[in-house]
Amino acid sequence: MAPGWAAGRSLTFPNMLRLVRRVLFQRGTERARLSSGWVHRAPDVNSFASRTNTCGELRAAHVGQEVTLCGWIQYQRQGLFLVLRDFQGLTQIIIPQDEAHSHVRKLLSNAPVESVVRVTGIVSSRPPGQENPKMPTGDIEVKAETAEVLNFCKKLPFEIKDFIKKSEALRMQYRYLDLRSSQLQYNLRLRSQVVMRMREYLCNHHGFVDVETPTLFKRTPGGAKEFLVPSREAGKFYSLPQSPQQFKQLLMIGGLDRYFQVARCYRDEGSRPDRQPEFTQIDIEMSFVDQAGIQRLIEGLLQYSWPEERGPIMTPFPTMTYDEALADYGTDKPDTRFGMKIVDISDTLRRLDIGFVQNVLTYPHGTAKAICIPQGARYLKHKDLESLKEAAKSRFNQEIMDVICRPDGSLKSLLTKFLGEEQQSELIRVLNMQVDDVVLLAVGDHKRVCSALGSLRLESADLLEAAGMVLRDPAALHFLWVVDFPLFLPKEENPSELESAHHPFTAPHPLDTDLLYSDPTKVRSQHYDLVLNGSEIGGGSIRIHNAEQQRFVLEKVLKEDSEVLSHLLEALEFGAPPHGGIALGLDRLISLIVGSPSIRDVIAFPKSFKGRDLMGNAPDYVTPEELEPYHIHVSWPAAETEAKKN
Ligand code: ASP
Repeated sequence: MAPGWAAGRSLTFPNMLRLVRRVLFQRGTERARLSSGWVHRAPDVNSFASRTNTCGELRAAHVGQEVTLCGWIQYQRQGLFLVLRDFQGLTQIIIPQDEAHSHVRKLLSNAPVESVVRVTGIVSSRPPGQENPKMPTGDIEVKAETAEVLNFCKKLPFEIKDFIKKSEALRMQYRYLDLRSSQLQYNLRLRSQVVMRMREYLCNHHGFVDVETPTLFKRTPGGAKEFLVPSREAGKFYSLPQSPQQFKQLLMIGGLDRYFQVARCYRDEGSRPDRQPEFTQIDIEMSFVDQAGIQRLIEGLLQYSWPEERGPIMTPFPTMTYDEALADYGTDKPDTRFGMKIVDISDTLRRLDIGFVQNVLTYPHGTAKAICIPQGARYLKHKDLESLKEAAKSRFNQEIMDVICRPDGSLKSLLTKFLGEEQQSELIRVLNMQVDDVVLLAVGDHKRVCSALGSLRLESADLLEAAGMVLRDPAALHFLWVVDFPLFLPKEENPSELESAHHPFTAPHPLDTDLLYSDPTKVRSQHYDLVLNGSEIGGGSIRIHNAEQQRFVLEKVLKEDSEVLSHLLEALEFGAPPHGGIALGLDRLISLIVGSPSIRDVIAFPKSFKGRDLMGNAPDYVTPEELEPYHIHVSWPAAETEAKKN
């Protein structure tokens, strides 16, 4: 019988229940995961270690037991007690005051905060009235019998307590200390559990094979910039792959028809907010599958691996075409948790007596569109509206006009003098304007107008929320498939040339294959993106598996040197099966699950915004001698030579 179970207590039903619960708890909790029907045995977190329990584990049921705990000193109070912390929680340790334990008292009273100690003692109930209901272990304390300071901690650069704010640069410099915080512990442990569930689902339930692919490879045409790694052959470099794209397709040709990998990817994109030069994808490829097959696989995968505490997710996820996403939300990753959709008001404004507007509306892609900011006049300041308009001008070169609905229902705008009464009521009706709403209106090229309004929609939502409006439910999960992307888009820097909207291996939509050869700009693709709450969390496509078609896309449409991909082109000629796949951005996915604004909070050792490792100080200089085998000579800009000398 469990120690502490009062002898002679009658085995009534409630007592029996308590006993069963206690026994289950002591053996390690086994809980049935109802959502998946998968029975999960709680891991033994104390095996092989010199502790009997963790600091988060002890309860009233353990009273009377001798236990050994290992952890870091979180607090120490006047030589009377201390609070010991590990990944699972906090336990109060009572420092013995009697002469026989003077050695233990000295050790524990003198060890600085964050020193790591091992304590053995007896679990006791806290004296009545001294229980701490806020602590899971708050009913008990451990009376130390013996103790050992395993290592002392010198003066900390910052306190580990969660409520103490510290600069991110300092946290990154001492990342190993920041990792001790309960938030990072939670984030990394949850990440590990989600990945474990993904592996179970893919390998055990669906027969996927986990294959590692090389990280030293060669340049891939198009897409993001790659990191170069020098080789000992003069002038020759490896590239770090942006993703295992080529390898996963080659695996399909090799007959490994269901591949997955927790893959590290590298992109040298300079400093960009919330991007990392190295990041992780759940990379998947399958043979003999279509777009719907991949979508159902990913819905099942997410449903299976989704943490219970974030609530169930509903499948299938809704789908929206790229054209709809652009027209209604001005982006290919719409945040559908709130309305404020873009509304086409071309018909209302067509009758306006303004030459510029009429002129624009005669162009093939000319349009007039607007978003309505609910209660904007109450929640947004004049300067907010001005900065929204300036942002559209500077980022999209798009003029924006505002229209405010006054308390008497009339409209206030520079535009009203051009609008008849009938047109004003039409505008109010089309945009469903209420008193105090603010409309932002744009006239111009369809893509530019939509992109500008889409960006203003998100910015004004942030402003409304900052001012106290409840617009998006923080617990809501809006998954969305965006499909029917164009296969090619005009290059931003030179719109007369085309680039792949996804990557050059993406297959055309089966209904548009002929257009590939006659008008590639009109071809839709078999590319699909997965969006969660306005963030892209995955993307993939059905691939071209015909060598001729792949060569045509590379050479004739994208004007790329197909020689770089001759190995893949040749492989496609040796009985390549039809195949497709997807990659989920693991860092972003986990950051959304844990509700963290930055992916740096779910990566153990992230790089800074500028791509630097602030702890180890990478990248770092190497000596000319070390560079010699690579035939590399650095020509230093004068300023840096000076800086290096100092
Ligand atoms: N390799 C692609 C990417 O990284 C994903 C895919 O097409 O499977 O975006």
